Amino acid sequence: MANIKVNYQKELEKIIDNIDEGKVEKLLLHSCCGPCSSYVLEYLSEYFEITVFYYNPNIYPSDEYFYRVEEQKKIIELTNAKNPIHMITGKYEVEKFYKMAEGLEDVPEGGIRCHKCYEMRLREAAKIAKKGNFDYFTTTLSISPHKNSQVLNKIGEKVGEEEGVKHLPSDFKKNNGYKRSCEITKEFGMYRQDYCGCEFSKKESEERNLKKKKDELRKKMKELSNSLDKSYMEEADKKIIENLISREEYKKAKNIFTYIGKFPEIDTSIFIKKAWEDGKNIAIPYCEDDKNMVATIIKSFDDLKEGTFGILEADPKKSIIMKKEEIDLVIVPCATSDRKGNRLGFGRGYYDRFLENIEADEILLIREKQISEEVAMGEHDKRINIVITEKGSL
Ligand code: SF4
Repeated sequence: MANIKVNYQKELEKIIDNIDEGKVEKLLLHSCCGPCSSYVLEYLSEYFEITVFYYNPNIYPSDEYFYRVEEQKKIIELTNAKNPIHMITGKYEVEKFYKMAEGLEDVPEGGIRCHKCYEMRLREAAKIAKKGNFDYFTTTLSISPHKNSQVLNKIGEKVGEEEGVKHLPSDFKKNNGYKRSCEITKEFGMYRQDYCGCEFSKKESEERNLKKKKDELRKKMKELSNSLDKSYMEEADKKIIENLISREEYKKAKNIFTYIGKFPEIDTSIFIKKAWEDGKNIAIPYCEDDKNMVATIIKSFDDLKEGTFGILEADPKKSIIMKKEEIDLVIVPCATSDRKGNRLGFGRGYYDRFLENIEADEILLIREKQISEEVAMGEHDKRINIVITEKGSL
């Protein structure tokens, strides 16, 4: 049977509607951070005497943890509440979090590690609520658009039953709760973090931000490439190739791995012809799958066919493979790079993987007008030491 989704906001409203007039019940509200609690405090302090329970051993690094504690205190002070709001700060039991997350470090946000993380925090909240004779306990976590309220509430119900205290259902993101929390945070000039809390979510968020930055730069560079004057490109390409073949790395190389530039990329065909004349062995990429490429040796352009991503490729069954360890020089393409050789590829990571542990010299070709001031790099991105433009080497 399909899982029926419960509207937990409606469940909460039913409970609120049934509160006897004049009665104020005691609620222990687990809070993940000040910003998320802002709307919840504004909304629920009308019906409950709330004690905020800040218990988040998951937060990384410790500076962030203590900063969030201060922001939590600030929001309590600033909330215009009908009933008093108190606060309990739980223990910062970092080891408990890491023990729970063991083996689950690489699970994406929202997966099983997070479910266990919710449970760890909700269980502690339920224990404190039981000990302190609270009428209910709940958490601010359901306000996040990234958190599954069905999962959160089921965990809340389960630990509530096990610890002997009532769980208050919630889906605070409903009724524009999340939007309101953003407005309040802005009104109060508060800090809102851009990651959930733990070091794994921090890394995930950094990767997300980096990807976004790269995608934007790629788009910008594509527009720029399409707007460049064709005669500038042709002129620049000739000079780039001249600069390349004057380099010692080229002169001493026997086996060269290069790409075949597809417009508006640099036209490397002039270079390949020259290299053949100079008696060099030339290999070009062949994408074996969605991760790896191999270097296939080519002797002429005649046998090449359009392959993956519309790039000219040789048939690997008919070609000899140039082994990585045999390659003396790699000519690397890019969407753009900065003057330090920080390179933005085309988003598939083929070259970053291929260039891992390679002994060969590496040269990146780029037209001056396509150089970016700065290219943000991730931990797996490879910087290229030699950058050649029409003006020379960088
Ligand atoms: S991503 Fe958030 S919920 Fe998931 S484990 Fe990390 S801190 Fe906990």
